[in-house]
Amino acid sequence: MPGQDDIQQQLAALRLEFAANLGIRVDQMIADLNGLVDHSDPATMLHDIFRQIHSLSGSAGTFGFFQLSEQSRQLELILKEAINQKNTLDSKTTKYLVRGLQALHTLIENGPENTSIIEPLEQLTTPSIMAQRLIYIVEDEAFQGQDLCLQLQHYGFRTHLFSSATDARKMVEMQIPDALVLDIILPEGVLAGTQFASEIRQLLQQPVPALFISQRKDWESRLAAVRAGGSAYLEKPLDISELVNHLDLITQRVRREPYRVLVVDDTEELAQHYSLVLRQAGMHTSVLADPEHILEQMSLFQPELVLLDFYFPGITGLEVASVLRQHQTYFSTPIVFLSTETNRKIQLQTLQQGDDFLVKPIDDKQLISTIESRIERSRTLSELMYHDGLTGLLNQITLKRRVESELARSQRQNEPLSYLMLDIDLFKQVNDRFGHSIGDRVLKSLAQLLTDRLRKSDLIGRYGGEEFGIIMPNTSPDAAFEIIEKLRVSFSQLTFKSDKEEFKCSFSAGISGSTTFSQENKLIEAADEALYQAKESGRNKTIIHDEC
Ligand code: GH3
Ligand code: MG
Ligand code: MG
Repeated sequence: MPGQDDIQQQLAALRLEFAANLGIRVDQMIADLNGLVDHSDPATMLHDIFRQIHSLSGSAGTFGFFQLSEQSRQLELILKEAINQKNTLDSKTTKYLVRGLQALHTLIENGPENTSIIEPLEQLTTPSIMAQRLIYIVEDEAFQGQDLCLQLQHYGFRTHLFSSATDARKMVEMQIPDALVLDIILPEGVLAGTQFASEIRQLLQQPVPALFISQRKDWESRLAAVRAGGSAYLEKPLDISELVNHLDLITQRVRREPYRVLVVDDTEELAQHYSLVLRQAGMHTSVLADPEHILEQMSLFQPELVLLDFYFPGITGLEVASVLRQHQTYFSTPIVFLSTETNRKIQLQTLQQGDDFLVKPIDDKQLISTIESRIERSRTLSELMYHDGLTGLLNQITLKRRVESELARSQRQNEPLSYLMLDIDLFKQVNDRFGHSIGDRVLKSLAQLLTDRLRKSDLIGRYGGEEFGIIMPNTSPDAAFEIIEKLRVSFSQLTFKSDKEEFKCSFSAGISGSTTFSQENKLIEAADEALYQAKESGRNKTIIHDEC
């Protein structure tokens, strides 16, 4: 992703270019209007002029030339009225419009207003997910503290252990952690943990998320934790997977893919502007001027949302949307229309279709927030459809579909791909001894471990039961072996707690590679066979299919 400064410069350059071409554009419209009487196809010409002025009023506002935008908008409305009524212009209206455009020209010659200073938006960029998160643990029981550190390290966290608030304070001043995990009773007092968190909040400009762990179950200590700004309060003995869940949430490192937005607008500078604004907010964008190519672009770029202009030469945005909706794949892709259109009937119509409507000129922040909330909603829906309820991983059907598309991609790019099948060892015994809900907790822990430690490009799914499938693009079976072996060792060292006792679990894994098994079913079968071998030869191990 380009740097913020770079995007700022591009936005500013775009605005300058827009301003530089304004005069020529208005001259062109005046010439077109004057030529209308002698034109062979005046109706088409009229629509063309309408589009030009519509585009001008939309762009001008977006680039911060509000007076220009307002004046051209008046002309747009008059022209629209004439088109709706008779689809032609009488000489009086033509003269009025020409005069209006000349006035615009004067406005431009006097120098475009200096109203728009493009301000950097707040940092909305998604944080780097792969960077290791730093956690400070303040815990005076040495053994508990060390155990906690080790467990968190298995999940990929970096940890620092302090036995008193005083020691931790010195370190916080030197390096701010991503989160604090604080015991409440410390050598400094029975509420020292919460007092420490309050102090840190006052000391630092930016709040550091804090999470409390304690034997204390009383109201006073829970209230103190809330007042100290604690994000969670976990009672000891700790459920490590619950703790990791909270840490993932408060450090905002839950795996989040950047939003993908396709911008379709025939006014090039506007399309570029929207695209830059969205990229500045950390999204991925693609720009398309000609809606005729929208289907190709959808399949190439796979956007999660389409930002669609309302008028194109010869076709309306609503028609483009209808064509899109004919395809089942895009049936539920959210569409946000952009227009100077204030016609309530049209707005209602689009809202009824479940789409959004933004009126140009559009404020950058409003654009971003509308798009974010739309994509979030649609992600929540697809989460229910494509993901496993217990672990949040992909469900079996979705993972299989992805095997198909990832295999095709790896063949296109001539890269190896590995497929892995994981199965928890003797899991039935876990359920039998400790109960189904403890079994569920083990499943969630493994899912979390895989999510936290694998690369973003790896696709992880749960086959139902205690089996998991992983697609590792651009990875040979040998490389996949190295990766999964490390995870296998980590997982086997996690301790789980039931009311009765502590216990450990392990998994076995089988690996197959796309170089030998180029068909989806064969690839999965081969990984399954290798997994079976791993089970047969003693469990808690990884085996690569012997033909790979
Ligand atoms: P192996 O090492 O050979 O894989 O032995 P295993 O006991 O893990 O294998 P088996 O297939 O005999 O048992 C799997 C168990 O997983 C049986 C079932 O009760 C349990 N299981 C399947 N789905 C879930 C679930 O969603 N939650 C819990 N807690 N248990 C589940
Ligand atoms: Mg099993
Ligand atoms: Mg099984």
